[in-house]
This record gives sequence, C-alpha cells and structure tokens, in this order.
Amino acid sequence: MRRRTLLQGVAALPLLTTLPTKLLAQAPPGPATRVPAAGVPAARAPAAGVLRRVRPGDAAWPSAAEWQQLRAAVGDRLLAVRPLFAPCESAPDGAECQDVYHNIRNPFFIGDSPAGTQVSGWLDAWTPSPSVWAVKARDAADVAAAVNFARTHNLRVAVKGGGHSYLGTSNAADSLLIWTRAMNAIALEDAFVPQGCAGKLAPTPAVSVGAGCTWIDVYSAVTTRAGRYVQGGGCTSVGVAGLIQSGGFGSFSKGFGNAAAGLLEAEVVTADGRVRIANACSEPELFWALKGGGGGTFGVITRLTLRTHPLPQFFGAAWGTVRAKTDAAFEQLITRFLNFYSGSLANPHWGEQITVQSDNSLKISMVQQGLSREETRALWKPFFDWASSSSDYTVTDELGASAHEAQSWWEIKGNPSMIADSRPGASPDHGWWEGDQDQVGAFLHGYDSLWLPASLLKESERPRLAQALFAASRHKSVGLHINKGLAFAPAEAIRATLDTAMNPAVTEAFTLVIIADGERPSYPGMKRPPMDLEAAHRDARAIDRATAELRKVAPQPGSYLSESNYFNESWQQAYFGGHYRRLRSIKDKYDPEGLFTVHHGVGSEDWSADGFTRLRHA
Ligand SMILES: Cc1cc2nc3c(=O)[nH]c(=O)nc-3n(C[C@H](O)[C@H](O)[C@H](O)COP(=O)(O)OP(=O)(O)OC[C@H]3O[C@@H](n4cnc5c(N)ncnc54)[C@H](O)[C@@H]3O)c2cc1C
Repeated sequence: MRRRTLLQGVAALPLLTTLPTKLLAQAPPGPATRVPAAGVPAARAPAAGVLRRVRPGDAAWPSAAEWQQLRAAVGDRLLAVRPLFAPCESAPDGAECQDVYHNIRNPFFIGDSPAGTQVSGWLDAWTPSPSVWAVKARDAADVAAAVNFARTHNLRVAVKGGGHSYLGTSNAADSLLIWTRAMNAIALEDAFVPQGCAGKLAPTPAVSVGAGCTWIDVYSAVTTRAGRYVQGGGCTSVGVAGLIQSGGFGSFSKGFGNAAAGLLEAEVVTADGRVRIANACSEPELFWALKGGGGGTFGVITRLTLRTHPLPQFFGAAWGTVRAKTDAAFEQLITRFLNFYSGSLANPHWGEQITVQSDNSLKISMVQQGLSREETRALWKPFFDWASSSSDYTVTDELGASAHEAQSWWEIKGNPSMIADSRPGASPDHGWWEGDQDQVGAFLHGYDSLWLPASLLKESERPRLAQALFAASRHKSVGLHINKGLAFAPAEAIRATLDTAMNPAVTEAFTLVIIADGERPSYPGMKRPPMDLEAAHRDARAIDRATAELRKVAPQPGSYLSESNYFNESWQQAYFGGHYRRLRSIKDKYDPEGLFTVHHGVGSEDWSADGFTRLRHA
C-alpha cells in the first residue's frame, strides 16, 4: 500500500518531463524565419570543386541496380521510408491511418517507425523529413555495408536509435538512414575486461547492450531482473547510444555521474567502413569522443558496454506544489527553498526537478536514491511544515515524501506511474512514465538550457539567485533539473565525468535549468487546427527573455547538448567547453570527409545547414 502511495504521488508529477505541461491546440509547423546560429554558417554558394552530397533526381543518385547491390548485402533490411502519416494521404479512413492516430502518443510506436521522430518539429528550426531509404541494421556488418554504400555514392547519412533528438539530428531529407532499432540484445557480464585491457584494468560487472535498446530495456534487465544499477537516462524510451554520446543524465545521476562516465567499451563502424572496438586501451581518443562528444558524428555505434553498480536499497520521491499569495512571498519561498536545498538536499541522494512557476508557485518533483521512507519524510518535514503553516502560502498539490525498494522502480506491470505499451505483441518491458506523456510527439516553440554554478548557493549569493529565478519566472516557468548538474556528486562520479567530452562546467553546477514550451503533436500530414503562429513566436521570445534573466547571474553558462537551444550561437563552447579543439581533431581523423554531419555536431560548421554541401575544409 505504501509503495502505491509513493508511486501515485510520483504519477501525479511531470517527474521526468523537460517541457511544462501547458500544451496548446494541435497545429502545423510554421515557416522558418529565425536566424541560424553564428556557429553554423548560413548557406552560401560553394566554391568550385566543393563536395556536394547527391539527392534523388541527381544524375549521380544510385541506379536501381546499385541499390540492388546494397540489398544483396543487407537483404530485406533495406526499407523504403514513408512519412509517419503517409497512410492517411491515400486512405484517411483506412485502418492503417487510424492506427497511426491511435498510437501517436505512444513513444514505442514512434520508435518502431523508420520515419518516427519523438518530437514533431521545432518552430522555425526543423520539420520531420524522412530518409528515402533505411537500413534496419541487424549487426555491425549491415551497418558497415550501409556506410560503405553511402560513402561510395556520396549520400547524406542519418543515424537513428530511439529518435529523441530535440535538435532533429536523426532525420534528414533525401538521405540514407542507418537505423539501429533491431540491434537490441542485452547481456550481463560479471567480470568485464575491455578488449586489450587485460592486466591494465580490473574486471568489473557490466552490461553489454545493442545500440537499438531503449533505457527501459536496460533497466528491466539490470535492475528489475538482476538487482543491479546502471546509469542511463530518465525517459524510458530514449535510445542508449544517442544518450551516451550526448553525456546523458538519469534521475539518479547525482550519485553516479553522467551516463557516458559508465561507458567501458563501444563497437563502432567508422566512416571508412571499419568495425572498431573503442575503449581505454584501443582507439582511446575515439572512445573519449564517444563519451559525450555528440551522436551521429564519429561513426555508428553498434554495441555499448556499461559499468553496473550495486543497487541502492531504496529509491524515493518528494512531491507537491506550494503557491504564494503575493510576489514578495513567492521570492521568499524561492529563497526558503534554496536554503533548504543547500542545507539538506545538496548531496548525491537528490535529483530531478523543482519548477519555479509563473503563477507564483513552486512545484516539487524530486527523487532520491539511498534513503529509507522514514529518512525521506523526516528530511522534508521542516520545509513542508513551514510551507503548510504560513498564511502567505497555499498548498495546491498535496505535499508528500516517501521511498520503497529500488528494485521495483522500473517495473511496468502494476506500476501506477507507468503507461504500458499495450499494442498487441509489444514487449512487456516497454512502458513510459506518466509524467513524460505530454512530451510524446510535442512540437517545440522554444527550448533553452544552462548550468547554474553551485557557487550561487553560497549564503551571500542566494538572494541574487532567488531574484534571478523570480525574474525569469515572470516570463516563463523555470525547471531546475538538479540531477543534471553534478556539484555535490561523489568524487569518483566527478572524476569519471571529467573523463568525458561533456563541458566540465557540469561538475561545478548544482542544476541544469531548462526553460521550454510547445504544443501537441504537429507531424506533417496530421489533421489538426491551424497553429497560432503569433502565440507560438511570443512563447519562443518569452523563453529567450527568461533565459536572459538567468544569464545575468551565470554570464557564460554551459548547456547540455541534447537539451539545448537549436539557435545557440556558441554551441561549441556551451556543449564542450575547452574540449572542442580535441574533439575536432578526432573528428578530422576518423571522418575527414564529414560523412556523419548533424546540426551542432563537431565539424558541422564546415557544412551547409541541410548537410548536403561542404562549405570549407578544416
Ligand atoms: C522526450 C525526451 C526525453 C528525454 N529525456 C532525457 C533524459 O531523461 N536524460 C537525458 O540525458 N536526455 C534526455 N533526452 C535527450 C536525449 O537523451 C537525446 O536526445 C539522445 O540523443 C536521444 O537518443 P535517441 O537514440 O533516443 O535519439 P536519436 O534521435 O535516434 O539520436 C540522437 C542522436 O544520436 C545519434 N545516434 C543515435 N544512435 C546512434 C548510434 N548508434 N551511433 C551513432 N550515432 C547515433 C543520432 O544520429 C542523433 O544525432 C530526452 C529527449 C526527449 C525527446
């Protein structure tokens, strides 16, 4: 019963969401009008001899006989790609079209389509544009065949795992898609030693996962069935390879470091078609770049081996919403929470979110690892007592805190916080957090993130921080994702995170702030009322203004590449800090011709925005 109470509390929260739940009416994407980032040069005419990828209709596009050669190598895993809503074009009342509408809020349904993107677009940034052909790879040999074919025929390549890229980097019009979904084997290892590391590295418990796995596949195998812990992502349907390559955070990262820190080895197909093993002893530079240097950039990962940890006995949560009656009381509430956080929660146990909302309320949706129910409740009691007893505040969502045995956290069956994939034949391991539902297929108006340094929590700085949070919330609700800033993590987690390509600022930040909004799915071909473009643009500008308020206290903040602004003008510095030069030289070594090019990817500054034209050589 108690577990049920906790989970119901958690279910009521947007526990893992990065978008506020304010989602407007369904609407189609608007025209592109915003100016691209300075880091990504605006398209200009290429100089003579400049590399151009080929498109269907170009004389150099592979002939039917040439595509047949690829089919000979990969068999029926070469697929023609149709947009998600293609069945509705020809037969709007047909069963296939109805099936798409019925399932479009199921992230596993979207992930099962080669054209599926988990975000339905971003205002003035990108619109889902499926590839022409896809190789639904079964193993590294299929991937190598696709890479060799693309290189030989000068094709634009897209690589997709779970399809969760906010920046739209796993879809590209007129491209060949390398789709990893079918590579989903999982094997637990008691004493893994990376290839070539015998005698250099001690054996360690680990899990090897195919690049097409989602995190819930991994949690089911490692935690639910084997009683161990692996550091992955929060959203269950996110793909393993995309998340590891962006650094990656889950609810409990504050205790274990970013997800990339747990990578022990990767099997990767590079642009030359070679299948390589990357680890600390073999291809160590490539290995480092794969740990947070960005997906779709250095090659195609086919397998990952990740460290596992002993499972903490308990996972738990704290939840509720408190609304202030006046602006002054709200600023006081923010300060009071910052004091409480600094004194009681700034440690490896606590992660997830606090939302400073525009309606003068503070929403608590935090989770913890390692504390019992009694410890959790005792910890929060003083803050809850203060908030419930003061006449300046109203509790608008019941306040609560609890914990239960960690092993059942990711169970799907009987878990009121999870929505199971109920399609016939779906894996019983597949489900998603109820709190993530609003994000599925969302269309983004705007999105930005920045790390706030822990130095802002010094007693002398807290009033300034509280004022900045209050000022930002006048424009837009502000999400503090406390598990995505690693200050107060254990020293070992910090050390391992510093050995990844992620901006080291993450280790000095107590939180990643995310400010974002959007509306219900707006996939091309989907029926819906027209979008209120003016309102959508107003929303985007409000996000910019809210972020600007926080930049006053964190003037040069880093930003998490997977959850960041499409229009960020200094993405190299923001995502990677001082690591960019090193990443660039690894890119030039392993992919000198830029076969793998994505928006805001290392080396993408040499390419036109559509990734088809090389504008300059490094
Ligand atoms: C709803 C939602 C929830 C999210 N929740 C979290 C979260 O809790 N924590 C967090 O840290 N992030 C989160 N993210 C961000 C997410 O981690 C990144 O977008 C991640 O890159 C997604 O990986 P994917 O395989 O699902 O996506 P994809 O879109 O398939 O891939 C993302 C990028 O990685 C590349 N890529 C994918 N597979 C491979 C491969 N095998 N080899 C080489 N490149 C590859 C793609 O080309 C693309 O550039 C979330 C995103 C969304 C949309």
